[in-house]
Amino acid sequence: MAWRSSGVSNADLVERLHQAGLIEDDRIKDAMLKVDRAHFAPSYPYQDSPQPIGHHATISAPHMHASACSSLFPFLYPGAKVLDIGSGSGYLTAVFANLVGPEGRVIGVDHIEPLVTLSVNNMRKSEAGRRMLDSGNVRLVTADGRKGFPEEAPYDAIHVGAAAAKHHEELEAQLKAPGRMFVPVEEGWSQYIFVVDKDKDGNITRKRQYGVQYVPLCDHPDAPKRKDSKHQ
Ligand code: SAH
Repeated sequence: MAWRSSGVSNADLVERLHQAGLIEDDRIKDAMLKVDRAHFAPSYPYQDSPQPIGHHATISAPHMHASACSSLFPFLYPGAKVLDIGSGSGYLTAVFANLVGPEGRVIGVDHIEPLVTLSVNNMRKSEAGRRMLDSGNVRLVTADGRKGFPEEAPYDAIHVGAAAAKHHEELEAQLKAPGRMFVPVEEGWSQYIFVVDKDKDGNITRKRQYGVQYVPLCDHPDAPKRKDSKHQ
């Protein structure tokens, strides 16, 4: 699937994703057309594959960004509030901001401070990105995403861009009722996308979708390592 959607320009890439049926609504297509992936991916921006952005992180593949937007789409209405955990390059944060419009708000959280700076700089490459940041439509913060971002909760939609070791109830608690989360979760040696729905009465359902390969949602690299009990 991946290589077939690669393009020679941003418009070509988005068109190919659309033709492959990976973009489920024209509003998502428009939102992706408005964000040039070349501002966020330092190499091969129009290739449908993840690219390194430093600090062991990658900008996810375009088909994964399209899939995340398609899954969360009913909750990305104009005026919605979105949390993007593991915001990395800032690309998807900007696409979400286009979807929720100037009345909406998107919080991007990453635990690596230089990546947060990178995402701000990436967004500032375009007039629209500068407007999103200056108006407060988008806020990019350094924090441990496993705790969500309670200060701005609750959220209509939560996107997690790194694989969680478990289902984090703390994140589910920060969803509105109704609300939806798109999250890769590890199961054994594999990772699967889960779509977690909270209904209007607050009931949670977790639906396993398809297998993926994401970087882990983990401790900060400088955090003191936990001691192995066997060696204490
Ligand atoms: N959506 C991003 C994906 C970046 S890769 C993009 O497409 O650009 C995953 C990101 O998760 C990395 O930037 C990494 O620093 C971040 N991450 C990993 N563990 C984290 C944690 N505990 N809290 C916040 N961010 C985390």
